[in-house]
Amino acid sequence: MNVLVVAEHDHVSIKSATLNVVTAALQCGSQVHVLVAGEAAASAAQAAARVAGVSRVLHADAPQLAEGLAENVAAQVLALAPSYSHILFPATSGGKNVAPRVAALLDVAQISDVTRVVSADTFQRPIYAGNAIVTVKSGDPVKVVTVRATGFDAAPADGGSAEIEAVTAVADSGMSTFVERVVVKSERPELGDARIVVSGGRALGSSEKFNDVLTPLADKLGAALGASRAAVDAGFAPNDWQVGQTGKIVAPQLYVACGISGAIQHLAGMKDSKVIVAINKDPEAPIFSIADYGLEADLFEAVPQLMSAI
Ligand code: FAD
Repeated sequence: MNVLVVAEHDHVSIKSATLNVVTAALQCGSQVHVLVAGEAAASAAQAAARVAGVSRVLHADAPQLAEGLAENVAAQVLALAPSYSHILFPATSGGKNVAPRVAALLDVAQISDVTRVVSADTFQRPIYAGNAIVTVKSGDPVKVVTVRATGFDAAPADGGSAEIEAVTAVADSGMSTFVERVVVKSERPELGDARIVVSGGRALGSSEKFNDVLTPLADKLGAALGASRAAVDAGFAPNDWQVGQTGKIVAPQLYVACGISGAIQHLAGMKDSKVIVAINKDPEAPIFSIADYGLEADLFEAVPQLMSAI
């Protein structure tokens, strides 16, 4: 069975979630091909070819693919779809933008947010904010799947030597136009990729305090900053820092939750972290039930003390 992985990339390198998707793909079928759709993305195609387990890279290069517009990328995937039993995307904003279009146009049901491949047609995925795992068996001829990156180890980025095949780019659909990309430049690791995440909740009280208390700790640990939805909704932290069911799903080596109660919707986004540290002044806070290390303390005292001890 041939499996197509639709790569997420920045035209130079492959985004890390793609490596996790390759691992899932190898559990679906023996031949894993990666589509790199972009403009002047030869470096990304070469990076994809080095990923262990990838047997072929399909490189579609055209101006209309430069910005990853969902309509054009979906059309590119559809042009290749007849050769594949499975089409896999990372369950990222990008993947979730394209996969439903592909599934709808192939008239198949999308299988979303897969965390385990049981067999080529059977998958597991979390439901009810991760409180239950459902096993889904698909009878569709093509399985269109989004893969939760934290459910699978990353395939080694080196060790492969796949051939790179140039494929004909589809015409511009004309259905959407790229206007502008606003990218926040940060020295910090990306939240989804970070090895350490320092996260803050409503307890921080203001964006100034969020910054004053948590930024030095994150700087010292080389961590990404995250936040609960309550902190985001209150304007203490930007939207793209939200961790949880309706935010980002992260599984870093270390997750430090400061003044976060541990509502199920928050836990859904971080409970797979390897080591969880919680600082909360309420001993009954649910976050303590999943924390490896819990500190019952006022964060405004505990975090500076932690800082000076590191
Ligand atoms: P609170 O629940 O108010 O907790 C604050 C905590 O700080 C308390 O435990 C308190 O004891 C502690 N505290 C207070 N002062 C201090 C201090 N000085 N020192 C130490 N500790 C202190 N939430 C998410 O986070 N992510 C999501 O993606 C998300 N999606 C949602 C989707 C839906 C459909 C719904 C209904 C809700 C969602 N929520 C999400 C919201 C979620 O239910 C909670 O409301 C939210 O997570 C609470 O955030 P919090 O822990 O910061 O705030």
